[in-house]
Amino acid sequence: MQIHAYAAHQAKDKLAPWDYQKPDLKPNDVEVKISHCGICHSDIHLIDDDWKMSRFPLVPGHEVVGTVTQTGSAVTLLKSGDRVGIGWQSGSCGTCEWCLSGQDNMCSKAQPTCVGRHGGFADSIITSERFAFKLPDNLESENAAPLLCAGVTVFSPYRLYQVKEGMKVAVLGIGGLGHLAVQFANKLGFETTAISGSPDKATEAKDLGAHHFLLNSDPAELKSKANSFDFILTTVSASLDWMPYMNMLRPNGKLCFVGATGGNITVPTGLLLGRQKSICGSNIGGVKVMNEMLEFAAKHQVVAKTEVMPMNQVNDAIEKVRHNQARYRMVLETGDK
Ligand code: NAP
Ligand code: ZN
Repeated sequence: MQIHAYAAHQAKDKLAPWDYQKPDLKPNDVEVKISHCGICHSDIHLIDDDWKMSRFPLVPGHEVVGTVTQTGSAVTLLKSGDRVGIGWQSGSCGTCEWCLSGQDNMCSKAQPTCVGRHGGFADSIITSERFAFKLPDNLESENAAPLLCAGVTVFSPYRLYQVKEGMKVAVLGIGGLGHLAVQFANKLGFETTAISGSPDKATEAKDLGAHHFLLNSDPAELKSKANSFDFILTTVSASLDWMPYMNMLRPNGKLCFVGATGGNITVPTGLLLGRQKSICGSNIGGVKVMNEMLEFAAKHQVVAKTEVMPMNQVNDAIEKVRHNQARYRMVLETGDK
């Protein structure tokens, strides 16, 4: 049996239809017929081999929603017909301290969904049952797909770094990750500021729950907000001058990276000790926080704003992401429900 997919055959390639042999179902695996798959900027980094870890042919796609069609002999958590989501991670050892505490994303054997195996720009996928998450009924599939990577990636650091109700939080970069980060921040009770380089996002950022909007293309505006935030979550996919953002932190404030800029950051150590500011990062989220995030999104109606396109138009959809034209997440649909 073949899986019908879209693959890049070398770095920076356009994707082309490509079939591969369906892998055997291991005892703990499930087969999922895909209905939707979001396009995360990490898919673009993988296609371009920005991180020097891509393996070709590469089938991107790690914001997968679909229906379980087959279960391995030892599967207990899922059954055929269940609607599930699959994110960046598709495996881990299952026995280390990190896996046992639900922080599987920190496992040294963590297996990404589309590196060394094939992802969700396809009609089906096989993954371990531990990384196929049952979706709450009141989340539509097209809106749920972006939660599987973007959603958990921005919700997790609020928990990891114990950001509390009433704190002043800024989200930098209002794209796929950022527009969900603003919604979660508002619903978690933070005083929320959206920082963007796109003036046309101001109104929508407020609709998403931002109490304030700042344009980062205006250095004076950034300077005027010195000493303003307890937590700045940066989702941008490019390197910036980070000093204005360090200056925008209040004492004990944190500049938290989830955007994979690939660049370095240099700051005076005096800032770290004098005002006790820190720089930190966050990597997707483990199984525990993924389930908490899905429940929270369903309860508080955190809904991804999506533009849905048929999967055979994947290259057009990718171009929109490359040019920051997605509002706010491109989602591919296969036509299978
Ligand atoms: P996206 O939808 O393309 O959004 C990124 C946003 O960053 C853009 O909408 C834009 O926001 C801003 N931006 C883009 N280029 C910029 C530039 N040159 N200078 C300043 N701002 C710029 O991307 P995404 O899917 O949200 O992913 C964002 C980053 O997170 C990527 O690097 C991705 O690989 C990474 N990521 C990390 C994790 C993790 O586990 N840590 C998980 C998923 C994704 P404005 O228009 O508002 O300025
Ligand atoms: Zn992603």
